Amino acid sequence: GPEWASYNLGVFLCTTCATGHRNLGSHISKVKSLKLGKWEDPEVEVLESGGNVHVSEKTERFVPACYRRPKPGDPHVLIEQWIRAKYERKEFESESAKDYTRGEMKGHLMKKARDENKYYPRYFVLSETESCVKYFPKESSKEAKANIPLSDVNVCLAPAKMHQDNGLQLSYITEGSTRHIYVYHESGHVIINWYMAIRSAKLNRLMVAYPSASEAELVPYLSTDFALEGYLSKTGPSEQDAYRKRWFILDHRKLMYHSGQMDAYPRGEIFLGHRDDNYSCTAGAPRNCKDQGYTFSLKTPERTYVLSAPSSEER
Ligand SMILES: [Zn+2]
Repeated sequence: GPEWASYNLGVFLCTTCATGHRNLGSHISKVKSLKLGKWEDPEVEVLESGGNVHVSEKTERFVPACYRRPKPGDPHVLIEQWIRAKYERKEFESESAKDYTRGEMKGHLMKKARDENKYYPRYFVLSETESCVKYFPKESSKEAKANIPLSDVNVCLAPAKMHQDNGLQLSYITEGSTRHIYVYHESGHVIINWYMAIRSAKLNRLMVAYPSASEAELVPYLSTDFALEGYLSKTGPSEQDAYRKRWFILDHRKLMYHSGQMDAYPRGEIFLGHRDDNYSCTAGAPRNCKDQGYTFSLKTPERTYVLSAPSSEER
């Protein structure tokens, strides 16, 4: 159960949310431990008359459908900005359009260079009317470096991998290959606005394409966090091939592998099909292959991939 409460807002809080509330400052939220705090009668009365359900009727009255409400374990920036949106900016108390529901967003983001681990400011433009996200070397540049269709783009918060609290990963298909773009902004508010703006534009697109579907039915398709990411070793098709360490990303039915975890392009992509179509995954290596560590074989109609994980659990 909750261990904390905000005694001016009248809500009970878990440890994560209590930290977020403390970061708002005591002029917005006054946080106290339920067990260790000393409670005065008027403070208890605020909690009794408030309570989370009652308070959220006001603070979460107009949350746009595209907005991703955080769950425990979600990236820190998502939780922090949700709390700030509710209690500091009071974003959801009126029906007025939000910065991220206007179908248009422009501004500089720090973008990782394709072939080096350095970030440079680039000018990004989201346009719902053109149904794309573009970026330019400079605000004044005429020609976009990339024109990413909204139909193709996936947006994912990637703080751990990027070692960047406000890190965002955009992935899309270009010329038959997946391309990853890594960006961040020093402001968590700005990065969450971009995240929600792309989700909002995608939702509006889907609502036009599937007029009979409800918003709630379409929301799960706005963005995906990758199902699994991590290092595996992969060996080539011939017996002499050595195992090489690769960064793998599992995205629904597609397994991508990269030389490094922040690479712009995967070295290869494996579509994962159904058992009935000759796809299978078994522990161990085929007879003509070295077994290294926790090996497993992924069989597709075209090729058998022999992979090995650093531990039994990860296999
Ligand atoms: Zn919480």
